[in-house]
Amino acid sequence: MASDQSWKEKYLRELDKADAREKQWQAERNTLERMLVRTSLASEGQTPELDRLLARIRKDLRKNKVNVETWRELQEQIDREITLLDERSGNPASPVPPAISPSSTTAPGDPTDLQDRTNRLRIARRVGQLLGQMLTQVSLDPAAEAQARLLQKSLLSSDNWDELREGLNQVAELVIEAVTRSKREFETFLKRLDERLELLRQHFAVQTEAQHGRQDATDCLDREIRAELDKVSDRLRSSDDLQDLKASVSDHLESVLGVLDRFRSQESEREKVLAEQLGAMQEKVAAMEAHSEQMQEQVRKERLRAMTDLLTQLPNREAWQERLSFEFNRWQRYQHPLTIAVLDIDHFKRVNDSYGHKAGDRVLQLVARELQQRLRNTDFIARYGGEEFVALFPETTAGEARQVLDSLREYVGKLPFHFSGEPVRITVSVGVSSFGAGDSADQVFDRADRALYQAKDAGRDQIKVDEPAVQ
Ligand code: GH3
Ligand code: MG
Ligand code: MG
Repeated sequence: MASDQSWKEKYLRELDKADAREKQWQAERNTLERMLVRTSLASEGQTPELDRLLARIRKDLRKNKVNVETWRELQEQIDREITLLDERSGNPASPVPPAISPSSTTAPGDPTDLQDRTNRLRIARRVGQLLGQMLTQVSLDPAAEAQARLLQKSLLSSDNWDELREGLNQVAELVIEAVTRSKREFETFLKRLDERLELLRQHFAVQTEAQHGRQDATDCLDREIRAELDKVSDRLRSSDDLQDLKASVSDHLESVLGVLDRFRSQESEREKVLAEQLGAMQEKVAAMEAHSEQMQEQVRKERLRAMTDLLTQLPNREAWQERLSFEFNRWQRYQHPLTIAVLDIDHFKRVNDSYGHKAGDRVLQLVARELQQRLRNTDFIARYGGEEFVALFPETTAGEARQVLDSLREYVGKLPFHFSGEPVRITVSVGVSSFGAGDSADQVFDRADRALYQAKDAGRDQIKVDEPAVQ
């Protein structure tokens, strides 16, 4: 029964995993829904019919009535509307100026129109950022992922409203694709689990049946031998003739041996069948185990992906929150020193503006790599967002962390960056604070952030420490 116990524990673990996966799927879905609401808001104001369809999408999301099949139809209607719109705006006789909403009655240059356009651009940028966030959480197939990356780039950098409108429309398609795919993967996972439970049930059924069969055969053997022995003792009581008795005893012994032989051959037949059944079962279990390992590996990869920043390969904000709460609990329990640092690249916007977004990305990757490599294994660093990094130093006071960070800051300042043939100096500013009595994680983070701004105000390329108030 020990093996039954381990089967049971195994299945309870599988169910826990299924539960965790459903939670992750729900979080992905929330991001996708938020993105869809923003996309639909940004796309409003083209035609009354399109507005009606977009309002319907937001209503479904609000009422939690999302049905992927119905939405595919909605998507087709939206596509038709957009094709009509494109045909209209492509017609030179059309009174609609390009890059302005076709239903707009305002003249180009009108301040309301300008504001409208700025708002749309702002929303498109936000959708671009959300799309980036989605890509770190959801696994799309490689083609869809590549398309999404291009789309994100255009949403973040294009000023052409026609292009952005088309991009926003594609985001809606991607959302549907991602939701359907996530749901399908989860369903497959549950189906596998169900199959394994069925296998377990069969295993018990075979064992119980075999036990019953063995019990019946033993009872039968017992009865037959007893009957033969009874006959022998009757005969012993009733007969006086020795020869006759000898013959009779010999007959009955033959008969008992025959019964035993029959029993033995039936038993070995039963064992053969059982061994075959057991063999088949072991093969099935081995196949299932192999599949389960693949699934676990996939879940592990997806989790790592959801916790890693794509550009720098550093842990992302999600991973930071998890680690922060872990170290905070340890600090509350043991009260050993714990320090937080916030690092921000100085004048990073200038790098983008002067040498392009690609050069900016490269700087982020290299600085991230150096920070990661130069910290101790027990320290933790993550990309918090944009050009901002956060680090945790367990068992380290603010003063000790300051020394480590100061040599890091100096090192970054000496990195030999070259753009368009000129050397460019990249520097970082750092804010540091450590945990003190009664602090929450948020309070210490806010103090480190405040210290960062003091470092910026004091001229950048330096470190400031904000110590906890002494109680
Ligand atoms: P400060 O010294 O005050 O920190 O100035 P700054 O220019 O570094 O700060 P600001 O917040 O004004 O600009 C940050 C810029 O970082 C703006 C944004 O376009 C850029 N940025 C954010 N994320 C990325 C990214 O992933 N790649 C690139 N290339 N740029 C990014
Ligand atoms: Mg900066
Ligand atoms: Mg910043």
